[in-house]
Amino acid sequence: MTALDSLVSSGKILERVPLGPYTTYKSGGPARYLVDVHDAEALDDLVASGVSSELPILVLGRGSNLVVSDSGFEGLVIRLGSSFGGVAVEGTEVRAGAAAPLAQVARSSVDAGLAGLEFFIGVPGSVGGAVRQNAGCFGTETRDRLIEASILDLTDGKMGIFGPDDLDLSYRHSNVTSTRVVVSASFRASPGDTDTGRAELRRITRWRRDNQPGGTFNAGSVFKNPIGATAGEIIDALGLKGMRVGDVAVSEKHANFFVAGSSATSEDIRSLVVAVKDRVFEETGTMLEPEIQFVGFDDEN
Ligand SMILES: Cc1cc2nc3c(=O)[nH]c(=O)nc-3n(C[C@H](O)[C@H](O)[C@H](O)COP(=O)(O)OP(=O)(O)OC[C@H]3O[C@@H](n4cnc5c(N)ncnc54)[C@H](O)[C@@H]3O)c2cc1C
Repeated sequence: MTALDSLVSSGKILERVPLGPYTTYKSGGPARYLVDVHDAEALDDLVASGVSSELPILVLGRGSNLVVSDSGFEGLVIRLGSSFGGVAVEGTEVRAGAAAPLAQVARSSVDAGLAGLEFFIGVPGSVGGAVRQNAGCFGTETRDRLIEASILDLTDGKMGIFGPDDLDLSYRHSNVTSTRVVVSASFRASPGDTDTGRAELRRITRWRRDNQPGGTFNAGSVFKNPIGATAGEIIDALGLKGMRVGDVAVSEKHANFFVAGSSATSEDIRSLVVAVKDRVFEETGTMLEPEIQFVGFDDEN
């Protein structure tokens, strides 16, 4: 019996788990294997079993930047449990486990009288996802506030501590590959005022509600902004708001958000992304690059 077989038969690794419910698009097929890692020891055990270096890996955060193919993901999905979800404030430093929601990082720092992390309030991802994606908005990116991240390499079991330059963080980019698990991160805030911070959180939340299609199935901005323009403005200028494939449409509220209905398939999402990208290229010569990540597709680019 292989290590994988015994982890499956003991119920530690689950098979054929639908991934749609774990993503904000709510579409897509199953993970061939899925493991919920509850604490650091369980993560070490997983590495020691060798299983995580044999299979394609997807570390799943809050699934807010992913489109999982309808046929699913033929590998091992790793989810970090609640013991990776803590947020602690020490002086002007905010430390968070990789599974902590970014909104919690924003609120905890404001509650502690700190400023600088409010931008996280409207990004519905986790700390691990933010490090991997260098998430950002309103002129601030994760790299501007990240002190360091603790990252486990699943291929050799080594834990390392990395700063923003080590991780090559730039616009929605890092060198965190699929076999590296962000375990925790610390962020630099500055002294602030709780009432002012709470007002800022409300302002950002209101702005999002007014300008983005909140409450719908989407994964945020579909395309990265090309230099000198926003993808939303380009798509809007071509009159593509409302363009539809199956049960997915370009949002009427924000053209760089593609919103899915409850019967949408991931293929609908992919086809609409390709159709919009092609139209933009034909009509403007600009090649848009997806910001959302495609998982389990033959061509993930
Ligand atoms: C309504 C809405 C608004 C959004 N607004 C913004 C915005 O303003 N700015 C912005 O940057 N993004 C935005 N996003 C996109 C998304 O929230 C961010 O990219 C977020 O950082 C993704 O985090 P996640 O935990 O959901 O990651 P997932 O979607 O689960 O995964 C994304 C990537 O991160 C990797 N990953 C996740 N956790 C870990 C980990 N612990 N270790 C290693 N890799 C990991 C995954 O393997 C995958 O490659 C928005 C999304 C939505 C739905």
